[in-house]
Amino acid sequence: MSRLDSFIRRLTAQRDILNSICDLVKETEGPVLEFGLGNGRTYDHLREHFPTRRIIAFDREVHSYSASTPPADDMVTGDIRESGQAFIGIGAALAHADIGTGHDEIDAITLTWLPQLVAGVLTRGGVAVSGLPLDWPELEPLPLPDGIKEGRYFLYRRK
Ligand code: SAM
Repeated sequence: MSRLDSFIRRLTAQRDILNSICDLVKETEGPVLEFGLGNGRTYDHLREHFPTRRIIAFDREVHSYSASTPPADDMVTGDIRESGQAFIGIGAALAHADIGTGHDEIDAITLTWLPQLVAGVLTRGGVAVSGLPLDWPELEPLPLPDGIKEGRYFLYRRK
């Protein structure tokens, strides 16, 4: 499979999983956290699906498309490893983390802190959607929507 095909499949999995968890998130109180604002594409998608929900986005710095940039109060800059700590216990209904790089050695370091952080920001029953696997005892894997191959994108619910 070419890298282009692989990229398209990953984004398709990302979109289909985010679409599939809308009802689950709507029945759970709490903000939505977007770890890795990037260009703001998934932020924009989340905003479309959860128009009344507070969505807090994180990135090292803001480099999103201007129309997909959160208000200043909902934008947290800096390394998520540190900046995310202040949000532990916030009781999020959804945490979406799209901070994988595709470089195993970098992602291995991210995986030393990301699962615990995601579990810590979610309320009980809150949903985690991630480009990297989140192997953590409080995060229970959920079945993926039809047609999404295991390992392409990841979906959990906080116990
Ligand atoms: N989901 C976004 C979209 O649809 O536009 C794309 C996210 S992009 C793949 C990943 C982003 O995560 C990058 O902008 C990068 O700066 C950010 N990122 C990765 N690791 C980070 C970290 N440890 N702290 C802060 N930002 C991080």
